[in-house]
Amino acid sequence: MEQTLSIIKPDAMERNLEEKIKSVFIENNFQIVKEKKVKLDKKDAELFYKVHEAKPFYNDLCNYLSSGVILVMVLEKDNAILDNRKIMGATNPIEAASGTIRKIFGISIDKNSVHGSDSKENAEKEISFFFKD
Ligand code: UDP
Ligand code: MG
Repeated sequence: MEQTLSIIKPDAMERNLEEKIKSVFIENNFQIVKEKKVKLDKKDAELFYKVHEAKPFYNDLCNYLSSGVILVMVLEKDNAILDNRKIMGATNPIEAASGTIRKIFGISIDKNSVHGSDSKENAEKEISFFFKD
């Protein structure tokens, strides 16, 4: 079994898509083993997205992630990291495959409804960022 970190971002939380998106994970055989709602402050968002600090969109991204409540989840299944990236779809909803979460629910490249870890190393880092135990 593998674990990955998933976040339902502010644009989706504001549109009450929490249960709909969670049901996509459940239908795809993910177990939601931990979850919590949080509201990050700007500094937390900057730390979480530190890998992107040199990117032109970094400041807007951190403002956005800290703009509202998010739902943070640890998802578990075999190949959780890659399988989650598959059902999320491409970063830009316009380019996402049909049936993916970002295709169905995403608004734009920045308001793309979900985050998912992209590697084993980042999954571990991101899970411990939100769930210290
Ligand atoms: N993002 C953006 N503009 C861009 C690229 C990315 O606003 O041109 C945002 C978007 O919300 C994305 C996040 O930054 O989900 C992290 O970017 P990354 O390339 O890691 O995409 P992801 O892994 O989320 O698909
Ligand atoms: Mg990423």
